[in-house]
Order: sequence, then structure tokens, then C-alpha cells
Amino acid sequence: MLLPGATLGVLGGGQLGRMFTIAARTMGYRVVVLDPDFTSPAGQMADEHLCADYHDRNALQRMGETCDAVTTEWENVPAESVEFLAQRCTVAPSAAALGVAQDRLAEKTKAHEFGCDTAPFANIEDAGDLVHAWSVIDGPALLKTRRMGYDGKGQIRVNSLDELVTAHEQLGFVPCLLEGFLPLEREISVVLARNVRGEIAVFPVAENQHRNGILDISIVPARVPEAIDRKAREMASRIAQGLDYVGVLAVEFFVLQDGRIVFNEMAPRPHNSGHYTLDACATDQFQQQVRALAGLPLGDPRLLTPVVMVNLLGDVWMHGPQWLELLKHPGVQLHLYGKAEARQGRKMGHYNCLAPTVEDALALALTTRAAIGIQD
Ligand code: AMP
Repeated sequence: MLLPGATLGVLGGGQLGRMFTIAARTMGYRVVVLDPDFTSPAGQMADEHLCADYHDRNALQRMGETCDAVTTEWENVPAESVEFLAQRCTVAPSAAALGVAQDRLAEKTKAHEFGCDTAPFANIEDAGDLVHAWSVIDGPALLKTRRMGYDGKGQIRVNSLDELVTAHEQLGFVPCLLEGFLPLEREISVVLARNVRGEIAVFPVAENQHRNGILDISIVPARVPEAIDRKAREMASRIAQGLDYVGVLAVEFFVLQDGRIVFNEMAPRPHNSGHYTLDACATDQFQQQVRALAGLPLGDPRLLTPVVMVNLLGDVWMHGPQWLELLKHPGVQLHLYGKAEARQGRKMGHYNCLAPTVEDALALALTTRAAIGIQD
């Protein structure tokens, strides 16, 4: 067990690393961040910022010597770097768990193994697999790159074999999954923490709405039947247990129009759809990440108030953000990530709307969104 005063490391210096760093330092830990960007959001907050590439052996050596335990804020850190560190200090989640979450085929195969439904899918290693994959799915489908896809990037909708062939070329002939296109009723996610003793703390289910493939708002509690809510938490817990996972894990599900719930994907780290926990839960997802990494007992994940989280993308900066339109509301909590440059679609911050009912929280979210110029 690592107590306050120990040194924790995080691979990746984006907003997730920043919020981990803030939580860890608040709890009395020292924090080392590895990120190649000199201005990284987490580097600004850390005791030490190793400004180097994720493959840099000197930086990794230093990280391994200085840190008692290291985690990640990004699933695509090179496996060799994680293994190199694991020989020098505690690393959680493990390289094996990261490996599963990096690959859509591996994560869907594991999800099946742990008893979760998924969309029908067919693997495409290379162009030779296209005809067979189309014959398996045989209908409207999504072609998704197996690796490195995020925020709706690396995926193309296809309606015929011809379109599939063109889409595969557009994606650069990389290994892909062809997934049956499902009739979605809603999208939900579960964030949980699991520690080395196998204790699990599950946060309330979030209902997520996306725009242009990027998370727009999360509504909590999710407006789903109790049975769906319970099943989502159970499925996420089963996955964490099955992977012997240590850390914070986010699992995204689809609720279908016929009431079924299917696994979509997982992220081996805190998640954008868990940012509501920062202001609305007894313990937030970053404190939980610190506790899990340090081998501590987990905190109470209980929801203290209904909440709606709104993402702030760089688009809002294009006409000068009207912060007072948010801050004049006592129920709004603003979080900005300290990014130097605002670009369209770039996640710059978020805010949480707290209210006595989920309907009131949603109304506050929609009014304030409109007031700062986010258009539907
Ligand atoms: P993903 O990168 O897998 O999270 O997909 C991005 C978004 O595409 C999801 O949030 C869904 O809105 C949509 N989507 C992904 N897979 C499917 C599917 N099999 N059927 C219908 N919609 C999907």
C-alpha cells in the first residue's frame, strides 16, 4: 500500500492526466508526468514533467526509478514502454489489460467470453477478408479500425460490398472490424474502480449523447429502466473481474430499441463520461484512480445529486467564451484544462450542472449551452 508522500506517475499529459495529478497532489502524493508536449495540461500541475517521447528509454528509466507506481491516461501508450516500466515499479492497469482495450477485436472477444452481448462483427485482417466479412454481416454496417479509433474517428458507414471495399481503402487497408449497424435507443456507460484486492466500486450509470462523434452531454442518473441499469453495472464488473483489472475502467454500452443491452467498447482509464463524478459523487473517478493505483481501499462512489455534464470544445472559443453565462448559475461547476490552443473539436473543458432533479439539471445544461453559443 502506498501512502501519501509516495510518488505516482502517469503516462500521458492530457486532461485526464491533469485531473489525476490534481487528485493525487490533493491527497499528498508526488506526481511525475511523462508527455512529449512542453505545454501539456498535466505537466503544468505535476511535481516533475518528463518532457519526452513515450519510447524514450532515459525518461522511462527516470520514471521507473522515481515512481512507486505508474498508471496511464491513454490506452495507446506503447506496450514495450509499459513492460519496461513494469520491471521497475508497480504499473496498473497491466500491459495485458491495456492490450485488450487497444484492440476492438480483443475487447469484443473478451466481452463475449465474460457473457456480454456485442454487435455482430467480422474481423478484417486485410483486403482478402472483405467478401467473407460482408457475407457475415450482410446489411448496413460500420467499418471500424481495430486500433486507434476514438471520438468517432476511424469508422465509416457502409451499405454494400462495393462501399466496404472503398471504405477499407479510405482507412488505409489497416486491420478493421465490420460491425452490424444496430438500432440504438440510447448510449450509456459505466465507470468503475477495482483495486488489487479485487474490491470494486461502481459509479452510477451515465446516459451519453454525442455530436459529430464526440461526447456532448452525460446525464446522471441515466434515464433507463432499473433492470438495464443493474445489468450494465454487472457486465462492467464482470469484465473488470475477468481481466483481473486494477485501476479505473470505463465501459460503453448500447441500449437497443428492443430493450437489449450490448457492450460497445472499453477504456482502461477514467473517462469523459465520468467527469460528472468530480462534483456529484462522494469520491470522483480521479481520486478513485489514485486509490486503486496506491492499493488503498476505494472511496464511496455514491451519487450526491443529479447532474448533467456538458463538454466544452474549442468551437466555443471561436466567438469568445462567455464564462459569466455559466458562472452566474450557482449550480454550475466549471473545469478548464489549461490547453494553450483552442481548435475545433478539441476538448478544452467541461462543466457540471447540479440540480435537485435530473430534469432540472438537463434544463440548466441546455439553457447554458445555448447561452454560450453551442448550437444543436
Ligand atoms: P465507437 O467509436 O465504437 O464508440 O462508435 C462511435 C459512435 O458510433 C457510438 O457512440 C455510436 O453512436 C455509433 N456506433 C458505433 N457502433 C455502432 C453500431 N454497431 N451500430 C450503431 N451505431 C454505432
